[in-house]
Amino acid sequence: MELTAIQPASPHGEIKARIAAAVAAARSEILELSHRIHANPEPAFEEHQAAAWVAEAIGRHGYVVEHPAGRLETAVRGRLSGGRGPGARVAILAEYDALPGIGHACGHNTMAASGVGAAIGLAAVAGDLAGEIVFLGTPAEERGSGKQYMLDDGLFDGTDAALLFHPGDLTSIEARLLASEDVDVTFHGRASHAASEPWEGRNALDALVMLFSSIGLWRQQLRPESRVHGVVLEGGTAANIIPDLAAGRFMVRSPDQLYFEGMRSHFRTLCEAAAMATGCSVEVEFSGRSETMRHNRVLGGRYLANLEAYGMHEDPPSDNLGSSDMGNVSQVLPTIHPTLAICDPGVPGHSIEFREAAASPRAEEVTLIAATVAAQVAAELLMDPALVAAAWRDFRGAAS
Ligand SMILES: [Zn+2]
Ligand SMILES: [Zn+2]
Repeated sequence: MELTAIQPASPHGEIKARIAAAVAAARSEILELSHRIHANPEPAFEEHQAAAWVAEAIGRHGYVVEHPAGRLETAVRGRLSGGRGPGARVAILAEYDALPGIGHACGHNTMAASGVGAAIGLAAVAGDLAGEIVFLGTPAEERGSGKQYMLDDGLFDGTDAALLFHPGDLTSIEARLLASEDVDVTFHGRASHAASEPWEGRNALDALVMLFSSIGLWRQQLRPESRVHGVVLEGGTAANIIPDLAAGRFMVRSPDQLYFEGMRSHFRTLCEAAAMATGCSVEVEFSGRSETMRHNRVLGGRYLANLEAYGMHEDPPSDNLGSSDMGNVSQVLPTIHPTLAICDPGVPGHSIEFREAAASPRAEEVTLIAATVAAQVAAELLMDPALVAAAWRDFRGAAS
């Protein structure tokens, strides 16, 4: 698709056309970044190369860059003031973490590239905007909720809107995000020869197996759309040694924040019960909390209007669920989390097929459209204080 051949949605068509032209002119820079991050996957909190690359890219386009930004080494902030005096502050967010083992199977390489692309598009028209454009490189979405650290570090202070896009198999403005938390569980037992003195041992692996079994039974009684799932991290070293240590990592999720609190406490009870039954002790450590998503309808409406100009439309609602630390941001300021299709419906996220899709020609086109549209929505906000006020009204639950 030729971005520059399309008439952007009104209002401010002239400025939006310049944004699209700037994104189109930077096409190879944006897509090369996407492929470079895709080919060099780095998991949560370890995105050293990706963070350096995005920081370099926005620095080249006039942003004042902080890297690291706040306490996270792989967080980035870039700031650029508009030429029309004080006004709103709009943040363009970019994720770039990959999944351990499977790489960019969530396609965050496209998010990093489109975030940089949006920043490039906005830099080209900054002279005609009021307020401030903020680019935030946000690490550790897959685990650890990096955005919560950035919120706590004040990096979102004074921000009126947070915009990003996530790739998916369907296009929808309001992704359904569950409250979620990671749980690290470690059982400690006592090692012993498994044949000569098994009665001297305390089997930590038995405790972990028991925990998986009780989670499996618990699922029968869980409310729809609540989730508990996990993997074994350590389960012993040799068949003739009773394992004195076993560890697992789990996630607990629910669409209902209050119900989620109850799940969290029951999960801990299951861990303690398994420890008690096997004579082991247990450590249970919750971290990386993601909140449910509070979609801003004003921002979502503007995003869709600008998106449709580029021929992309919402798919019918689906059963797709996920979690994101974007939910945490959405509890504090007007936020959207649109998903744009980069592959055919039915390709699951976190799969090898999706990883391949994230480097496909279709993903390239969507990355450029996402960059353009996010920048166009940001430009509307930076030119129209009434739109910013409407987004805040919606946030406070008083949309007219
Ligand atoms: Zn993701
Ligand atoms: Zn993911």
